[in-house]
Amino acid sequence: MQFSTTPLYSSSTIWGSLRSTLLTTLSKPSSLCCSRSTSWTLMAAMSTTAEPITQKTCQPPLQVAKRLEKFKTTIFTQMSMLAIKHGAINLGQGFPNFDGPEFVKEAAIEAIKAGKNQYARGYGVPDLNSAVAARFKKDTGLVVDSEKEVTITSGCTEAIAATMLGLINPDDEVIVFAPFYDSYEATLSMVGAKIKSITLRPPDFSVPIDELKAAFSKNTRAVLMNTPHNPTGKMFTREELEVISSLAIENDALVFSDEVYDKLAFEADHISIASLPNMYERTVTLNSLGKTFSLTGWKIGWAIAPPHLTWGVRQAHSYLTFATSTPMQSAAAAALQAPESYYEELRRDYKAKKEILVEGLKSVGFVVYPSSGTYFVVVDHTPFGLENDVAFCEYLIKEVGVVAIPTSVFYLNPEDGKNLVRFTFCKDEETLRTAVERMKQKLKVSV
Ligand code: GLN
Repeated sequence: MQFSTTPLYSSSTIWGSLRSTLLTTLSKPSSLCCSRSTSWTLMAAMSTTAEPITQKTCQPPLQVAKRLEKFKTTIFTQMSMLAIKHGAINLGQGFPNFDGPEFVKEAAIEAIKAGKNQYARGYGVPDLNSAVAARFKKDTGLVVDSEKEVTITSGCTEAIAATMLGLINPDDEVIVFAPFYDSYEATLSMVGAKIKSITLRPPDFSVPIDELKAAFSKNTRAVLMNTPHNPTGKMFTREELEVISSLAIENDALVFSDEVYDKLAFEADHISIASLPNMYERTVTLNSLGKTFSLTGWKIGWAIAPPHLTWGVRQAHSYLTFATSTPMQSAAAAALQAPESYYEELRRDYKAKKEILVEGLKSVGFVVYPSSGTYFVVVDHTPFGLENDVAFCEYLIKEVGVVAIPTSVFYLNPEDGKNLVRFTFCKDEETLRTAVERMKQKLKVSV
């Protein structure tokens, strides 16, 4: 066994800052061996010390396939770990700090007690497939066959992965809108697809139509979109959806639409692109339980698509996870029976939280961009004089005690996100107010 003294990371400038100082990027150890299988790499990877440190340890070289080489520990994991480490208020990772509804939790307990504990049918517990189809009909007017067009997955992230792995070939081109949710790029990389990124820019993050048109080519296989949009809170307008639709039809491309925040639409009605004329047949609609029922840890998601596309999704799903948790699917079916008043109340509660955070952030001195949906809001941090989003978030954690998400990780070109950070308001009101108070006290607009 050999020991090496390896810097876990070193502090440096701008991109060094994100890639190394703040975050848990690991340099490849130079000369290493370790005969024990103790998880040194994991321990190192979990380290979140913000100052450069050295650690005497035995570190076998980190190993990862090329398709994942460029990716780091997810920004959400990193920031939540830093929140704990620094005792900071976590307005970073989007998970509610309050619990989901009693009736849904009770349904899960009942299902477990009733012995619904063996493998579920691969593409979903029949009751949940039916409940998803019924909700889709209520929301979009589209009637789908719950047995042939609905696939239940382990969260929307798996639905996205199954969709891409099941329907995209290596070297196919997929158009995404930056800033994009981090799993999109990693999953497309696993598929071997070519990513074409269209940047949505503040203040309204509208779709640059000409750039979108120019991005289509004969190799375009799909557009991967998200409305309401994480991280910006933008909701795609009907006009924008119509443009995407006509380009998809013209170029015979598919559309994958991640709609996990559909019930958190505050300023406009959510529109599923699948409901536009001639679009259902080329669309996979992706959704989940977590955001709507404040149960992000349950990881129940689904993909809705016509049978010819569902085939690909299910083939990938079968060999990724085969099936997802049986009792939680039963409880999810119960959740989806919630009356309209449940969703109205959810929206009302979130709207109040959004007001608190948005008004608070404005009073602190941020430039706050409008958020129509999701539980996120994006701000311009530059009034405070920090060099980029990562430096700002680092300062915010260490000096102010609040966690936000630097957005540059959501772009192919990180520079595009250097002025923007994302805050979440899926926290109780007192937490939001305390975070605002901390920022008011410690953040000063630089002149
Ligand atoms: N969707 C959540 C967010 O955007 C994070 C989920 C995750 O941690 N992977 O904050």
